[in-house]
Amino acid sequence: MKLSDRTYSEVRELLKVNKNLIIPVGTCEQHGLHLPLNNDILCAEYFAEELSKATGCLVAPTVNYGVNLPCDRSLTGTTSISTNTLKGTITEIMDWWRYQGFLKFFIITFHGDPFHIDALSDIADDVYLIEPYEIDYSGILEKQTTMRHSCEAETSIALYLYPEKVRVSLIEEKDIVFEDFRQYLFHENCEKPEEYIGCLGYPKSATEEKGKILVEKMIERTINEYHKKAVML
Ligand SMILES: [Zn+2]
Repeated sequence: MKLSDRTYSEVRELLKVNKNLIIPVGTCEQHGLHLPLNNDILCAEYFAEELSKATGCLVAPTVNYGVNLPCDRSLTGTTSISTNTLKGTITEIMDWWRYQGFLKFFIITFHGDPFHIDALSDIADDVYLIEPYEIDYSGILEKQTTMRHSCEAETSIALYLYPEKVRVSLIEEKDIVFEDFRQYLFHENCEKPEEYIGCLGYPKSATEEKGKILVEKMIERTINEYHKKAVML
């Protein structure tokens, strides 16, 4: 249920029933050779809409930019804003909604850059961050135990949610183990690792079936997190 599809008087009426607002936060980021740059935007919007269906909250227009790894700078199309800009943007747009009577704000993001998450984690006391991908992956994936990037998990989700956007014939994989990638993940090294093709993990093992299982678990987590935080005073 999109806020921006409504008139202001309709929003005013809906606000009497539910005072919480969902804000999807995406990012414009390379996703290897086989997934589009808006992958995390599509996923944030998908889980935001599922949460809206389950709770009756309105969904605010998506924030389409986020904080990305400096080592992705040369991967064409990727762009980033700073943590302060991300935090500031959300703080400013929220101020108006707070003034109009919205009470709690639920940010949904599908992008795990640690600085992006930091920026979204402590915006204000009435803002709660939900990361749908923070689930238990055991028993679902064949070659990974956690979410990586454009990987077995993320590609499975894409195959389930929007198969027409996945360039299946172009999937290539070249994993870099977490310890070796750590310095890039924490923005300490801004050069692209030589062997890096934009994805980590094993996208060749992705399937739509795994995607369905993951998405169902992620919807469950998203709704549970909402309910936990919605009752907090
Ligand atoms: Zn992603």
